[in-house]
Amino acid sequence: MKIQAINGFKDILPGNVIRWQYIERCARDIFERFGMQEIRMPIMEKTELFVRSIGEATDVVEKEMYTFIDKGITMRPEATASIMRAFIEHGLHVQQPVQRLYTIGPMFRHERPQKGRLRQFHQLDAEIIGAVEPRIDAELIAMGQMLLDELGLKTSLEINSLGCPVCRPPFKARLITYLEQSIEHLCEDCKRRTHTNPLRVLDCKKPSCRALVVEAPSMLEALCPECDQHFQEVKEALQALRVPFQINRFMVRGLDYYTRTTFEFLTSDLGAQAAVGAGGRYDGLIEQLGGPPLSGIGFAMGMERIALLMEQDTESHLPAASMDIFLAALGSETLAPCSLLAHLLRQQGIRAAIDYSGRSLKAQLKQAGRVNARFTLIVGVDEWSRQEGILRDMTNQVQQPFDMSGTPEEQSLRLKQLLQTTIH
Ligand code: ATP
Ligand code: MG
Repeated sequence: MKIQAINGFKDILPGNVIRWQYIERCARDIFERFGMQEIRMPIMEKTELFVRSIGEATDVVEKEMYTFIDKGITMRPEATASIMRAFIEHGLHVQQPVQRLYTIGPMFRHERPQKGRLRQFHQLDAEIIGAVEPRIDAELIAMGQMLLDELGLKTSLEINSLGCPVCRPPFKARLITYLEQSIEHLCEDCKRRTHTNPLRVLDCKKPSCRALVVEAPSMLEALCPECDQHFQEVKEALQALRVPFQINRFMVRGLDYYTRTTFEFLTSDLGAQAAVGAGGRYDGLIEQLGGPPLSGIGFAMGMERIALLMEQDTESHLPAASMDIFLAALGSETLAPCSLLAHLLRQQGIRAAIDYSGRSLKAQLKQAGRVNARFTLIVGVDEWSRQEGILRDMTNQVQQPFDMSGTPEEQSLRLKQLLQTTIH
């Protein structure tokens, strides 16, 4: 019996890892342009952290967490709570009042696996802590948009405001009253949500719920003057940065901690999985977790969904993995000098491949093609006795003699120089 990976947990194979590395490189590069610093946290936390931050009546806490019940610990379903825990624990704000942090790594949620939805998935997560200005919201959103643009993805941006502890509770009460009037038309989940988490009803995907929600009161019309002004200024700041967006007054987020600005980067190319990334402001969260009264805003992007979109897009070409040189050692006496030469080249930063099987030249050239070698150095017994090799350019099959006299170090330096002048 073969043992297979767990359902919803996936290998990322070398051909695909190239794409993942590219996404990560792009993300780090862009995040660092915005002054963000990387932070890495453990993948397990005390369960209490997620219950207190994400909220008890959310899908994530109610049914998606991987929890070791006897140990009181949970595999993180998202990164924001852990970042805030680390931020508070290490008093990061003391050194620098505004912290810009990002992290990249796996998250765990027990959901139904499907395309773009896994049980172990990966997020790019960025947070700005300690700043309240609407321009910060716009800057962070613009950073997410810049990443998607540079990756060549076509997504749309939707924004909304969820208000604050002043204006949300009265709105919630109004919404409950509205929903109760037609509660028999709601789906089973939404019947329950009407009292546990009524905002969630607003983004239910079931047609019957959607029909009711169209007429529901809107949070945007219920914002207090401060939240309303904040939202106006976020919109203006986004326009100033030339970031196109649409307002979606039904957008709510799955996690309880959000206040004011929320946003989603959406795609129509992944079937039911519409969100590539999402985020928002969480002004009360740090205090709620026992930290200083600081506000924050962040987003998380799903790396599987980004990688899938890039894979589907036939126009986005990635450079294939390649070797600078392949050493074809023909005959047993050339094996030792060639293996040392390969080693010295690698020490000097050259990507060198070598085949120890002693196979025919034809077979080795084929192997050089498979590993995408730019050059092949052919070292046959006769040539070797004359201290010579043949350097073959794999792009045009042109061959030239290569001087193999001198010490192995001299050979490797000569070869390195030749490769560098020929490639560039
Ligand atoms: P969805 O509505 O798709 O369930 P979400 O609102 O639960 O998403 P967030 O918690 O905001 O998602 O996470 C941010 C991003 O992480 C999502 O936009 C998505 O790209 C990605 N993501 C979330 N859950 C999964 C998952 N199970 N598998 C793969 N990616 C995911
Ligand atoms: Mg979800």
